[in-house]
Amino acid sequence: MYSVYIAVGSNLKNPLFQVKNAIDVINRTSKIKIDSVSSMFFSSPMGLKDQPDYVNAVIHIITKLSPKILLKTLQSIEIQIGRIRNKIKWSSRIIDLDILFYDKIFIRQSGLIIPHYDVKNRKFFLYPLHEITNNFMFPDGELLKERLDYINNNKICKCKIQKI
Ligand code: ATP
Ligand code: CA
Ligand code: CA
Repeated sequence: MYSVYIAVGSNLKNPLFQVKNAIDVINRTSKIKIDSVSSMFFSSPMGLKDQPDYVNAVIHIITKLSPKILLKTLQSIEIQIGRIRNKIKWSSRIIDLDILFYDKIFIRQSGLIIPHYDVKNRKFFLYPLHEITNNFMFPDGELLKERLDYINNNKICKCKIQKI
């Protein structure tokens, strides 16, 4: 069994409902057991500013699915919910499911990067993660608390985030 953190985000068609619904769908997926769910957070969009705010959350799951199969499973849930891929990076979407961490492993493949390549720079990943963990340590040994201090002191992530 593996310990995995997944980020859930949406900014279309009642984003709060979409995030909660995606978590329900994940919960009903075989070979995945949800262990914890963060609060819901509003965050300002990255990239194009002319789009609605996002709702974000992070969940912790226990699974025996391999990283590749887990990614495929999450992508089929995105499609089932109605995700339409857009060529514009970081444009509005009904649902986005990103694998943040899969145990302590590192994967660098064209279609799969774990830990998520930008996990340390996004407050809407780090704050929900902080909420559902105790003294979380990144696979490279850095402490989440120290990283949050660092990004706040250095204004790394300019997006605004607010707990709902
Ligand atoms: P970002 O990845 O910067 O958060 P995004 O979530 O909008 O942007 P998508 O269009 O949802 O990007 O996904 C682009 C590709 O990222 C997917 O086709 C998937 O193969 C790949 N990918 C690589 N690593 C991961 C990961 N850890 N979790 C989810 N998708 C990943
Ligand atoms: Ca994403
Ligand atoms: Ca994604």
